[in-house]
Amino acid sequence: MTRIYAFANQKGGVGKTTTAVNLAAYLADAGRRVLLIDADPQANATSSLGVDATTLPASIYDVLVRRIPLADIIMPTDLPGLDLAPSAPALAGAEVEMVSMLAREHLMRRALDGVSEQYDHILVDCPPSLGLLTLNALTCATDGVIVPIQCEYLALEGLGRLWQTIQLVRENLNPQLYISGLVLTMFDSRTNLAEQVANEVRTHFSEQTFRTVIPRSIRLSEAPSYGRTILHYAPQSAGGLAYQAL
Ligand code: ATP
Ligand code: MG
Repeated sequence: MTRIYAFANQKGGVGKTTTAVNLAAYLADAGRRVLLIDADPQANATSSLGVDATTLPASIYDVLVRRIPLADIIMPTDLPGLDLAPSAPALAGAEVEMVSMLAREHLMRRALDGVSEQYDHILVDCPPSLGLLTLNALTCATDGVIVPIQCEYLALEGLGRLWQTIQLVRENLNPQLYISGLVLTMFDSRTNLAEQVANEVRTHFSEQTFRTVIPRSIRLSEAPSYGRTILHYAPQSAGGLAYQAL
């Protein structure tokens, strides 16, 4: 059975991409067949894996808007077992182009037909919005949403809207959708604030919050500039060990 997860939070810069990319790497390292879908026009997941999004012949944009087969854009990565469906800057226009399409929220789910069986895990990295790209990811995410939460002030701001969106998607588009977990990210043990935010999240969402906390780690922020995951760049760093544990 293929497990499909969306990494979503409309708040920007909370660790969605870092979490999706590095979990994908550790899952592949554990022998799973993994597909990482970059559904963000910023293409951060794509470049984090060392792929130049500006020179690609085709991307997830062409899959969603021009309806080319997903298999045509999937590419292997340096990590055995990890494939990438890359994004490209063109995706920025996709939400506008998709608005008038029939079944516009189901485009990604349909694109996975015939492809998903080849993988144990499919991880979809969402943009920081609740627009059509995120809705497409939530609609295909049969195994739930993973919500990274940055351990900073205002971390819980906007979570209500995300919750409402997830509920609407469950009622209308994907009855299987639920929150599979909240991941506390960028935790800085030197600050009281991080501790307070983590406690607050655990108070409100005790069941859903993963025990593993991702620390703030320079190595995690450096790895993408080398086009590498933390598994290759610094597996023994605190960030590497945390994503392995997660
Ligand atoms: P966006 O909403 O723009 O897609 P995002 O939610 O995907 O952002 P990331 O890109 O993963 O967030 O992280 C934001 C920035 O913080 C990046 O520069 C990333 O390298 C850095 N970062 C992420 N996690 C950590 C961490 N645990 N420690 C230090 N830096 C981190
Ligand atoms: Mg991102």
